[in-house]
Amino acid sequence: MNEITRSLRGNSNAARDIAAHLHPYTNLKKHESEGPLTIVRGKGVYVTDDDGKEYIEGLAGLWSAALGFDNERLARVAYEQMRQLPFYHSFNHRSHEPAINLAEKLLAMAPVPMSKVFFANSGSEANDTVVKMVWYMNNALGRPAKKKIISRIKGYHGVTVAAASLTGLPANHRSFDLPIANILHTSCPHHYRFAQDGETEEQFATRCAEELEQLILKEGPDTVAAMFCEPVLGAGGVIVPPRTYYAKIQAVLKKYDVLFVADEVICGFGRTGNVWGCQTLGIEPDILSCAKALSASFLPISAVMVNERVYQALKTESDKIGTFGHGFTYSGHPVAAAVALETQKIYDEMDLFGHARRMSEPFQRHLKALADHPLVGEAMGVGMVGAVELVGDKKTKAVIEPVTSAGATVARHAQERGLIVRNMGDRIAICPPLIIQPAEIDELFSRLRAALDAGAEELR
Ligand code: PLP
Repeated sequence: MNEITRSLRGNSNAARDIAAHLHPYTNLKKHESEGPLTIVRGKGVYVTDDDGKEYIEGLAGLWSAALGFDNERLARVAYEQMRQLPFYHSFNHRSHEPAINLAEKLLAMAPVPMSKVFFANSGSEANDTVVKMVWYMNNALGRPAKKKIISRIKGYHGVTVAAASLTGLPANHRSFDLPIANILHTSCPHHYRFAQDGETEEQFATRCAEELEQLILKEGPDTVAAMFCEPVLGAGGVIVPPRTYYAKIQAVLKKYDVLFVADEVICGFGRTGNVWGCQTLGIEPDILSCAKALSASFLPISAVMVNERVYQALKTESDKIGTFGHGFTYSGHPVAAAVALETQKIYDEMDLFGHARRMSEPFQRHLKALADHPLVGEAMGVGMVGAVELVGDKKTKAVIEPVTSAGATVARHAQERGLIVRNMGDRIAICPPLIIQPAEIDELFSRLRAALDAGAEELR
């Protein structure tokens, strides 16, 4: 009996998990034979499984646990808020201080002047909210045909019906009967994979903007309402667009009065070396969604910030109808909001964003050094996020067949060596907690290089 079979028998966590738990983003059949990795505790950038094995969490959970996996202050704030007011809502003119305080804090941090903050519980809910706001707004403005929304191939915006439609990845559409109508996908700004022969980054960025303009013209500018972009595409493989890309894209959107929606769910709160990805990439959004590191992932909460023009339209329409008929029971949940506000205070007090900027230098140096590895076709990143793309032939960029096998192999070798990373196809993403220290960065990359060596050996 091997280790896996043994752990799947009897009353182990693995056996009970297989029997009872339907997992998100998991091959359900494979799970029945392989079982879960069950994590029981965390400290700093480390998590520990139920066999006592410790791992560096190289993806901060799901690109999100900026403070790592323990924090007494946040635990205490949650406890105190639960004792004072465990729940109240914000429907029908009700409010509470944690939501008010957090809304003020976010407006003070916004990358461009924003007018109001709407709260939800997840990135997907935030993005579905934005879709509805954009539709609502254009009805208010007497433009009922201006409803189509553009996102990008390989963009990731979540999994609820509208958000999954915006997501430009096949696994989020196939067999779910998505995307819904009026969602359009434009080119992915990944120079390494999609540039034509000899095309410079600048020329490639120009072509992406031209393709966007052609799409808007083909559909009719009077029918296109908004474009969603993650400043750095995350789950699509950590893709940093070329330097001039967003200036060109924004010029096109402005020309046709198409709103820019920045999905800062991963990039927000220091990940790219500034507070917002918008600042790193030169974006001036009309609407901004954020989640994840908003609360360092200690509790689920997300937010949508809208500018004054969007707010005024929502206000007019809600007055006409009698209510802004959208909201969640847990919009601005007081415990989650109190924890998020305390998270932001902690970030400020420890200068976490400054720390992340300083750590970007060793992080990116180690990352870019992996480009010389025989398996690595591209090493790309910015700030404290990056990825390596695994190829069978560095010159032709040919993938190793079957696609994803190389990514899965290296991720498995990393896990065996005490490093959790995520493979998106054959791109291995690295996005550690922002509190990571230089020696831990060294260790992370030393384990990753060892995993690449073992992967190269196995795949040869
Ligand atoms: N937007 C981006 C950029 C994300 O990376 C994610 C999740 O990874 C989402 C939206 C969806 O967030 P959630 O999983 O909280 O619904």
